[in-house]
Amino acid sequence: MTILRTLLWFVAAAAAMLGAVWLAERPGAVTAEFRGWRLDTSVGALAVGIVVLVLVCIGLWLLYRWIAGAPGALLEGWGDSRRRRGYRELTQGLAAVAAGDGAEAQKHARKADKLLAEPALTLLLSAQAAQLTGDRDGAKRAFNAMLDDEQMAFLGLRGLIGQALREGDQAQALAYAERAFQLRPQTPWVVHSLFDMQAQIGQWKAAQETLDTGLRRKVVTQNKGRTLKALLLVERSRAAERDGNAADALALAREAFGLAPERIAVSSRLAELQIKAGDGKRAAKTLERGWALAPHPDLAELYLKASGETEPLKRVGVMRRLASQKPDDIESHLALAQASLDAGLWGEARRYLETAGGTHPSVRVCRMMAEVEERAHSDQAKVHEWLARAADAPADRAWRCSACGAHHESWRSVCESCGAFGTLHWRAPGTFGQVLPPEVRAELEFAASPTK
Ligand SMILES: [Zn+2]
Repeated sequence: MTILRTLLWFVAAAAAMLGAVWLAERPGAVTAEFRGWRLDTSVGALAVGIVVLVLVCIGLWLLYRWIAGAPGALLEGWGDSRRRRGYRELTQGLAAVAAGDGAEAQKHARKADKLLAEPALTLLLSAQAAQLTGDRDGAKRAFNAMLDDEQMAFLGLRGLIGQALREGDQAQALAYAERAFQLRPQTPWVVHSLFDMQAQIGQWKAAQETLDTGLRRKVVTQNKGRTLKALLLVERSRAAERDGNAADALALAREAFGLAPERIAVSSRLAELQIKAGDGKRAAKTLERGWALAPHPDLAELYLKASGETEPLKRVGVMRRLASQKPDDIESHLALAQASLDAGLWGEARRYLETAGGTHPSVRVCRMMAEVEERAHSDQAKVHEWLARAADAPADRAWRCSACGAHHESWRSVCESCGAFGTLHWRAPGTFGQVLPPEVRAELEFAASPTK
């Protein structure tokens, strides 16, 4: 383009020069008459006059263009700088949010809002700033306003869910979570939050539908989905039993056991219903399989019940049969110690407890040892010694939440302290990698890192 233009200029200049030379070589006169005026001049002077006139016209035209276009250009420049300032405020506001300075963030949010015509962006900043300063109403207003924008609605819902949960308004949180789930059923936190909320209020069927969607969308892993489904079935089985529907209760428990026999809540649920149905033999089979995968004192108790045996010495034999499913587990030793204790077999009870305790007997082992010595009428000093040891002994296995680390007396599907579903496991303390929520751990690591 530029080359073509330069070429044209050269051609035009050459033509003009040739023209001038041609005119200079051929002098002539021009005479013009107009209403009594008479103009005598040479051809060359006339040509120069015409060129000057054309140049003046072009100059005037450019001047007009410049004057007429100036206000627009000026306005454009002003708008540009306004937007630039707006984005600068926005950036500073976001930096303030990241630094945790709510008041500063709010100041920048207000300025950015005035300067920018981008309500979605400034709303997000306003909401975060309001949250940081503890201004709940302000945050809620901003989140609600975000719902009108298609792009921001999801983020607004996330904020509103968090706020509703903090205020303890579960129904409202659930309504928002359902809306978020409709918008983006493939987002992991949406699926998990909705599932937990539905489970918390006992909407087992709805929770199962959410779980199925999560599995379809690969937000929940197959293995996790399997155990969660089994625990939901346990809850549905309980509900069916409460409604007087024993057959359904049993069928649901059986389905759960087919999915996750390694969960104590599942095996104990099925065995309990089988015992109630008068089928002790099936219950014993269920418990033996459950014990081999995950032994627990509740299963031992049900096993004795299923056997129908009341004679203490024979009950030791029954317990031996169950313990043989996982002979080296501490629960097997403890169950045998308890049965021996109940049958008055002090020596055997001591032996099982010694095997269970090893070099660092746990609280439970120490207490049982004290009981054995007490009931065997041994030296009182021995009883006191075991009780004293129990005070500093390592903690036993217990129902612990893998999400928040909370300790529970008995199993329940929903953790009372953090609201997570299916996170209670029969474990010793310190066996979970994460007891603290990730953000707290990050803070601790940050605080603990040495400063240079
Ligand atoms: Zn928990």
